[in-house]
Amino acid sequence: MKFIRPNDMEGLFQNMEENNDRRYFLAGGTDINVQIKNGVIKNAEIIYIKHLKELNGIQIVKDDIVIGAVTNITEILNSKIIKENLPFFQRSLESFASPLLQTSATIGGNIANGSPTADVVPLLLVLDAKLEIVSKTQTRIIELNNFFTGYKTNIMKTNELIRSIIIPRKAENGFDTYFEKVGSRKSLMISKVTLAGLKNISHSKFTTVKLAVGSLNEYPRRLYKIEEYLTDKSLIEINFLKVEELLNEEITPITDLRSDKEYRYHVCVNLIRTFLNE
Ligand SMILES: Cc1cc2nc3c(=O)[nH]c(=O)nc-3n(C[C@H](O)[C@H](O)[C@H](O)COP(=O)(O)OP(=O)(O)OC[C@H]3O[C@@H](n4cnc5c(N)ncnc54)[C@H](O)[C@@H]3O)c2cc1C
Repeated sequence: MKFIRPNDMEGLFQNMEENNDRRYFLAGGTDINVQIKNGVIKNAEIIYIKHLKELNGIQIVKDDIVIGAVTNITEILNSKIIKENLPFFQRSLESFASPLLQTSATIGGNIANGSPTADVVPLLLVLDAKLEIVSKTQTRIIELNNFFTGYKTNIMKTNELIRSIIIPRKAENGFDTYFEKVGSRKSLMISKVTLAGLKNISHSKFTTVKLAVGSLNEYPRRLYKIEEYLTDKSLIEINFLKVEELLNEEITPITDLRSDKEYRYHVCVNLIRTFLNE
């Protein structure tokens, strides 16, 4: 195992010039250290990045909130900028792991690790977040929605990393918000089903609905078919059998140690009902 601690971004990119599919970044270490300890990652090149100031911090840039990839959950929970602009996002992260884990776990690590259960991802999906992905020679901005390609895989090349997460400053404005994480306990809970939702209502009809689920597919995703079906309908016009049918097309729940797929499916349907009724 090779460990590298670059002094700055230049040093970081010098170490990333060659493609290397055994290269990993160590930000908070809460995922990667477990994988190293369990032998899932071995003979790898590990680059420490948490200290790099270009990857840290929260700023307002024009109409966006820009969160450095190695900003940790505690820093987001304590941020005045997030409190004033994205209070739903901030509030929802209170249920992330435990206060101790929050001081290490980073937002970029949560996304890049690519777990189906990553809490941050469904929230960022309904907030229409984008990622700034950088290499030595290129910066590209991509929608988070287009980032994942499969279970724990994404569009990044091995000479790229996430520099920041970009969220429209007004992403929550005018919306009723919903975030529910269902699991076996309150603290250190890995979710069985997560639903994030935004809706607004005019003249009793849902004018905009945004829904994203976690733990139900190989990666968290938006429920576009259901969103489209619900839009411009009032609650009494909604046929929940149709919602269930569409959900069946959009999710592929699995049975694992934490839960079985039928349970996950029914919980998700109930969460959507609750979200619409609240
Ligand atoms: C006890 C426990 C409880 C947990 N509870 C939760 C929970 O409630 N909710 C939840 O969502 N997660 C939970 N997790 C998982 C973990 O804490 C999060 O996924 C965390 O956000 C990962 O961030 P990190 O900085 O620790 O990532 P690291 O472990 O440092 O890195 C993880 C992966 O991301 C890559 N990476 C890191 N930063 C970047 C970057 N900027 N660009 C590109 N790639 C990068 C690394 O190469 C590595 O593959 C838990 C973990 C543990 C051990």
